[in-house]
Amino acid sequence: MQLKLHNTLTKQTEGFTPLDPNEKIVTFYSCGPTVYDFAHIGNFRAFLNADVLRRTLELLGYKVNQVMNITDVGHMTDDAVADGGGEDKMCVAATRLAEAKKSGKLPEGSTVDPSDPMAVAEFYAKAFMEDSAALGMRIVDDAKANPSLMPRPSQYIKEMISMIETLIEKDHAYVASDGVVYFSVQSFDDYGELSGNTIETLRSGEGGRVDMDTQAVKRNPADFMLWKPDASHLMRWPSPWGEGYPGWHIECSVMANTLLGNVIDLHSGGEDNIFPHHECEIAQSRCATGCSAFSRYWFHTRFLLVDGTKMSKSKGNFYTLRDLLDKGATAGAVRLELIKTHYRSNANFTMQGLKDSQRQIDRWRRLKDWLTEHKDVAANPDGPLVIAKEQFLAALCDDLNVAGAIGVLNEAVNDYTIDTDPEANGSSTLQEELSALLEMDQLLGVFDLETKASLGDLDVPKIDSLIEARLIARDEKKWGLADEIRDELLGMGVAIKDDSEGTTWSKIVQ
Ligand code: AMP
Ligand code: ZN
Repeated sequence: MQLKLHNTLTKQTEGFTPLDPNEKIVTFYSCGPTVYDFAHIGNFRAFLNADVLRRTLELLGYKVNQVMNITDVGHMTDDAVADGGGEDKMCVAATRLAEAKKSGKLPEGSTVDPSDPMAVAEFYAKAFMEDSAALGMRIVDDAKANPSLMPRPSQYIKEMISMIETLIEKDHAYVASDGVVYFSVQSFDDYGELSGNTIETLRSGEGGRVDMDTQAVKRNPADFMLWKPDASHLMRWPSPWGEGYPGWHIECSVMANTLLGNVIDLHSGGEDNIFPHHECEIAQSRCATGCSAFSRYWFHTRFLLVDGTKMSKSKGNFYTLRDLLDKGATAGAVRLELIKTHYRSNANFTMQGLKDSQRQIDRWRRLKDWLTEHKDVAANPDGPLVIAKEQFLAALCDDLNVAGAIGVLNEAVNDYTIDTDPEANGSSTLQEELSALLEMDQLLGVFDLETKASLGDLDVPKIDSLIEARLIARDEKKWGLADEIRDELLGMGVAIKDDSEGTTWSKIVQ
C-alpha cells in the first residue's frame, strides 16, 4: 500500500516515495513550539497530526527520522510578516514571569529565574516535553535517547552564522545600512512557490504584509532578516556582523540541514507557517545548498477553532492539556479529539466532542479487555478486526483519512460477533483479533496513554462501595434508593453508566 499525501508545494495529492526509494527511511522536520508559554491544544493539533503522519509511515514499514525544534530565540511577536517585527517572544515571557514573580503568581511548581530567558525557555520546554509525552508523541521517546532530535536554536548559532556567510558569498544575502543581514528575495526566482506570495503579489499588496519600518534600508520590501546586531537584546551572540541574534526562519533551515541533510522528505507545521516561515526556509535552504528542492513534501494542518475563531494565546480562547486534565479529561480523549478531524479541515473544539471521544475510547477498551481475557479461544482467522485492519490502513493511505479509519474500526467494533469455530482452523485464536486491534492503536495511540481521568481528590473506595450498594438496591427493586445513590455519586462529581457490560463510572468533565 502507498501513502497518498497532499503536498502544499504542488497543491496536489501525490503518492509518497522517500528520496531513496530503496531505503525505507524518511527524513521529517516538524516545526515545533516556541517555548514562551505552555503550548495550547491548538498547537498540539499541528504536532499530533505530524505524529499521525509519522505513525502511518511506520505502519507502512518506514523508519522515520523525525526532528522537532524547540524555539528559544528569535521568534518575534509579529510573525505574520516575513521580517518579523515586535519583540522576541522569549523576552516577552521573561517580562511576564518577572511580573508574576513580583505578585507571587509564578506558574505552579516553578522556581524559574525570570531574568534568565534560557531558564524560562527550559521551564516551558520541560512542560512541553511532559505534555507531548502524555499525548503519545513518538518524537519525545526518540529525544529521550537522542536529545539532538528536539534541538534548541540557541545551540546552533555557529551553524547559522556559517549558512548566513554562505548566503552572503553567493549574493543571496547582504548587510544593509542598518547593519542587519537580510535575505534578498529577488535573488531567488522561486520565491513564492509554496505560498503563492511571489514578489509581485507582495508588491501589489495582495500577499502577506511586509514590515514598513525597515523598508528604507532593504533592497526589496519583502527581504527578511537573517541576523540582527542588537547589543541590548537579552539573548545575543558574537558574529561577524556584531553581537546579536538570528532570525526565526534561518533557525529551521539550519537545524534541518545539520540534522537531516540538504534535501529532506517531509516538513510539517500549522497552516500559518506556510507564509512567511516556510516560504523563507525554502529560499534560504535552496540558495545555501544549491539544490533544486529543500523538502520534497510539505504537510500543513489547519487551525483548531473555538466558536469559529482560531484558538490562540492572543485571543485568550485557549485550553492547555493541563486545563483539560484538571477538568477530568484523559490525555487519550484529548489526543483522539485533536486527530479525529481531517488535518486539512478546521476542527472546532468543544467539551461535548471531548466527551464523545472518551466514550469512543471506552468502547474500544472494553473490547480490548474482553479479547485479552479470551485471547486463547479458538476463532475464525478472518475475524472482523483482522479484516478491518486492512481497510483502516487504506483509509490512512488516502491522505490520512483518520475519520474514515475510525469509521472502519467502529463498524467492526459495533457489530462485534465472535465466530468461534474451533474446527475451521485449529491454529487461529482471538489473539489475532486482539493483535489487529492493537495494531490499529499503533496509529490512534490511545490505549498506551493514561486513559483513566485524573481523579483529583475522588474517594475511589467510596465510589466502588456506592456502586455496589446501588446494584443491590436495583436487584431488590428498591428504585428510589438506587436513584438516591446515583444522585449522591453525581454530587461527588461521578457519572455512572449501565450497559450490557455492567456499570462503569467516570469523573464528570465540567
Ligand atoms: P508557536 O509556538 O506559536 O510557534 O506555534 C507552534 C505551532 O502551532 C505552529 O506550527 C502553529 O502553526 C501551530 N498552531 C498555532 N495555533 C494553532 C491552532 N489554533 N490550530 C492548529 N495549529 C496551531
Ligand atoms: Zn520552523
